[in-house]
Amino acid sequence: MKHLTFLITAGPTQEPLDPVRFLSNYSSGKMGYALANAALKKKYSVILIHGPTALTPPPQAKTIEVQTALEMRRQVQKYFSEADIIIKVAAVADYRPHKIFRQKIKKNTNTLTLTLIKNPDILFELGKKKKRHQTLVGFAAETTHILKHARKKLRQKNCDWIVANDVSNKALGFGSDQNKVIMLSSQNDAIYLDGTKKKIAKKIIDILVKERR
Ligand code: C5P
Repeated sequence: MKHLTFLITAGPTQEPLDPVRFLSNYSSGKMGYALANAALKKKYSVILIHGPTALTPPPQAKTIEVQTALEMRRQVQKYFSEADIIIKVAAVADYRPHKIFRQKIKKNTNTLTLTLIKNPDILFELGKKKKRHQTLVGFAAETTHILKHARKKLRQKNCDWIVANDVSNKALGFGSDQNKVIMLSSQNDAIYLDGTKKKIAKKIIDILVKERR
C-alpha cells in the first residue's frame, strides 16, 4: 500500500473583534478529528490544522492550532505541497471584522454597526493550484437545496469530492456525534453515508484511498 499524507483542517475559526470578543460558528471539530483518527488508524501520516476546539488532538498527528481564517490559510498553504489527500472540513468564517478594536467596545449606544470584510476562500485557492496526484475534498454544510449547492461548490472550487451535510437538523452535523452525508465526486458518483462520525470518517478515508488506486 502506498504511503499517503493527509492534510485535514478542522473546527471553526475565530475572528477577533476586540480583546474579549470574536465572531465564530458552532463547528465542534468532531468530523475533522474523526477523519484524522481514521487515517492514522490506517497508518497514514496526518497533518491536522485546526481552529479552537474542546477536543484533544491525536498525538500521532502533526497538529497545528490556529485561530483565524488568515492564520489557517497561511498554515494550509505551507503544508499543501506535502499532502496527497487534502480534506477541508474546517468551518472557516466567511467574513472577519474590518477593524479589531484595541480596547473593549463600550455599550454607550443603542445600536452598533460592524463592518465585515470577506475572508479568502482557502479551498477555492487550493483548487486552482492542486497537482494531478492530489485529491482535494471540501465539505459543504447546507440548510437548503443540499445537492444543488454541493454540486455547484464541487465545480466552482475545482474539488475532486464534496461531502455535503444538512446542518438544519439539530440531531446531526454541528456538535453531534451522528451525521448523514452525501459524497459527490467530480466523476458524478453520489455516495450516501449515515451513522456516527467515526463510522462515516472511516468510510470516507477508505473511499478516497481506493479511488486513487
Ligand atoms: O462555500 P462554503 O463555505 O460553504 O464551502 C465549504 C468548504 O469550503 C469547506 O470545505 C470549507 O473548509 C471551505 N472554505 C474555505 N475557506 C473559506 C470558506 C470555506 O476553505 N473562507
